[in-house]
This record gives sequence, structure tokens and C-alpha cells, in this order.
Amino acid sequence: MVTMFDSRINCDKTNLMAVQIPFQKNLEFAYGVADQLSPLVRRVIADNPSAFTLFGTGTYIVGRGNVAIIDPGPADQTHIDAILSATQGERITHIFVTHTHVDHSPGCELLQQSTTAKTYALGRHGMGRERDESEFGADWNFNPDVLLTDGETVAGDQWSLSCVFSPGHAANHLSFYLEQEGALFCGDAVMGWSTTIVSPPDGNMHDYMNTLKKLRARQDNIYYPTHGAPIERPGAYIQALYDHRLEREQQVIDCVRGELHSVNDMLAVVYSELDPAMYPAASRSLLATIERLLAQNRLKTGDHNGEETINEATRLYLSTSE
Ligand SMILES: [Zn+2]
Repeated sequence: MVTMFDSRINCDKTNLMAVQIPFQKNLEFAYGVADQLSPLVRRVIADNPSAFTLFGTGTYIVGRGNVAIIDPGPADQTHIDAILSATQGERITHIFVTHTHVDHSPGCELLQQSTTAKTYALGRHGMGRERDESEFGADWNFNPDVLLTDGETVAGDQWSLSCVFSPGHAANHLSFYLEQEGALFCGDAVMGWSTTIVSPPDGNMHDYMNTLKKLRARQDNIYYPTHGAPIERPGAYIQALYDHRLEREQQVIDCVRGELHSVNDMLAVVYSELDPAMYPAASRSLLATIERLLAQNRLKTGDHNGEETINEATRLYLSTSE
């Protein structure tokens, strides 16, 4: 007979995650100083360290002479001054934004006070969704001068950047491919030091898994994430991220099988090794995983109606296919 206690033990066992992601948590840098990472790429890191940003936002300078900026970062004049100082004697011709989170896009307004460069992005935050001030970390104010589309290439002086639509972390997330170096500026779609948060409704796990598949099919030489060190073997890294998410899905299924029926019930089990201070963020990613399992009909909600909005207390059950 399988008791609830036995089931919980089984559920706990799933914490022994088999997939190892080669995170790189160290980085040698100094705030305000531009590091030359390759012939065409420099990086300046903003002094906004947090549990989500690691050391802070990495702003990239692309090219020489006439340059592009990718993600000016937070509205921090000191950081903007560091970007301007790093590009002294040069001209900023384009400002690209990977997505509208407060550590990426608010700096555009400050930077544009010192340059005539236009801002380029996929669109405003939410991509048409109603403004929701309660959404953590969103920049609802940013409005790009030029709207980009997936696959479009913007050419500058001796550099060209192609847009790779990469939603999941944010609905309007773009990565930018630097053709001259085979490098992908992957924003927060991939982080160098951690998995990325996927928080509904702007974050979507189904989109995120498709983004990982799309990135996996590419042959990029190197990734430059906004947070963390460059990723030099992106193919293997993406595969590990993908496998990790699949493992997480199975872990959720095992939890429900083990009578842990809601995010609130399973949070401390699934994330037993995580600092509880990070539980609010972890619960968002768990919710995103569950949304995907509901859409795949692997789980169902208490009233057998998958249409309603779910939350951390929603009771979940296995569907007959599991
Ligand atoms: Zn972000």
C-alpha cells in the first residue's frame, strides 16, 4: 500500500536533480569600467547587484567608432555616465533593448539625453496586455522609437545585428545575433549564472521551452548574457537548461502524485535547496511550469476546467494520461 508518507519520500527523491547546468558564478570586472570581450564587443556592468541580477546589468557596446548599445540598464546616471565615458570620441548610433524589465530598459531615456540614437525593440511591455502595476520588475513606460521583428537585421558601421524572437522570460524578448562574430546577445533568455525566472502572465513556460529549442537549433559561437559571464559552449548549455526544465516538470508530476496538490504545498519540496527568500520568485516559475502541464493535459485543476487563471493555491490533480 502506498501511503502519503511513502509518496512524499518519492517526491523528495526528485530533488536529486540529475541535470547539471555548468553555471559560472564568478566574473572579474569593475563597476563603471568597460571590458573588451572581443574585437567588436565591450561590456560595462551597472552597480545594481541583486538575487536576480547577480553583479548587475551587463550593458554591451557593439562596434568601434559608430557603435550600438544593447540594454542601457536601470535609470542610473552613474551607469549611463560610464557608458558615455567608455564611448568617448565615438558615436552611439543605435540603442537596442532585449526586453522591458527595470534593469534593462529605463536607462534609455537618460542615455538619449546625450545622443540622438533611436531605441530599437520588439514592442512595449506586455505586447498589448493591459497595464498591471503589480507586475514585479516591469518597465511599462518604455516605448521604442523603432519596432523590430523576428529575423530582421539592423546594420550599423561594420556590425550587423539580427533579431531572434526569444519569448518566455518576457513576452517581448529579443536576442541579437552579431553576424561578424557569430555571437548572440541573449538578454535574460539565458543567464550565465542561474536559470532564468519565468513569471506568468508576461513569462510563459511553453514559449520559453520553444525558445530553448530554437536556440538549441542554432550554431552560435558564444552567448553574451545580460547577467553573468559569456557562455562559450552555448549548445551544451542550452541542452542542460532544457533538460533541467523537463526534469522540473516530472518533479511537479511526482509531487501531485505524492499528494502535494498546489504550488504552496510543493514549493519547499521542489526548491528544498533554495534560500527561502527566493521562494516568491520560485513560486512564479513553478506556476509557469504548471500552466504548461495543464496546457499539455498532464495535470488538471480541481474543477476539471483548465480555462481559469490558476494561482499558488489552486488544487491540481493528475490527468488520466499520467
Ligand atoms: Zn528580465
